[in-house]
Amino acid sequence: EEHLVIMDETAIRRALTRIAHEIVEKNKGIDECIIVGIRTRGIYLASRVAERIGEIEGRPVPIRELDITQYRDDRLDAAATKAEVSAALGELEGMPFTTKDKIIILFDDVLYTGRTIRAAMDALMDCGRPRSIQLAVLVDRGHRELPIRPDFIGKNVPTSKQEQIQVALKEIDTIDQVTLINQ
Ligand code: 5GP
Ligand code: MG
Repeated sequence: EEHLVIMDETAIRRALTRIAHEIVEKNKGIDECIIVGIRTRGIYLASRVAERIGEIEGRPVPIRELDITQYRDDRLDAAATKAEVSAALGELEGMPFTTKDKIIILFDDVLYTGRTIRAAMDALMDCGRPRSIQLAVLVDRGHRELPIRPDFIGKNVPTSKQEQIQVALKEIDTIDQVTLINQ
């Protein structure tokens, strides 16, 4: 097994700071923006970027979490109901979560085939008609099977299908590091 460090703590920090600025620039501020982090590591990346946007804009940007595992198209049972999706996204003060007219910025750690993002978009669409959905990822490793491309990219890492990206984040892995692993 070969391990190659492709992003260290500094590189990750700079990439997330750049993405925070890109989000603010693309949307001319953060009005109507909601950042949605996808399950484990996307949530930590989303929180870090939301914090930087708060520093840039002087006010916080709303952030939500989405666990998409049950909405993947390879799941056997039926699609999630609106209520399930709302629950997955978390309710705000008893009010059901709505994406209506919002700019949703989805965050994930690694983009691969695009199936997770497709499922995430499906779940978000069930909560209202967003003005737009944008995608931010720390690493784009290629091999898309759907017409999905990220708007904000930490690093493009062309990989073979045998290779894997390991994303370690301080919140759960003690260090910040992105590694390319060749099995
Ligand atoms: P996709 O649905 O695009 O095929 O895969 C993306 C999802 O699977 C993301 O949630 C990501 O966390 C995970 N994933 C896919 N490939 C990799 C990889 O090489 N490394 C890591 N850490 N996660 C991956
Ligand atoms: Mg994931």
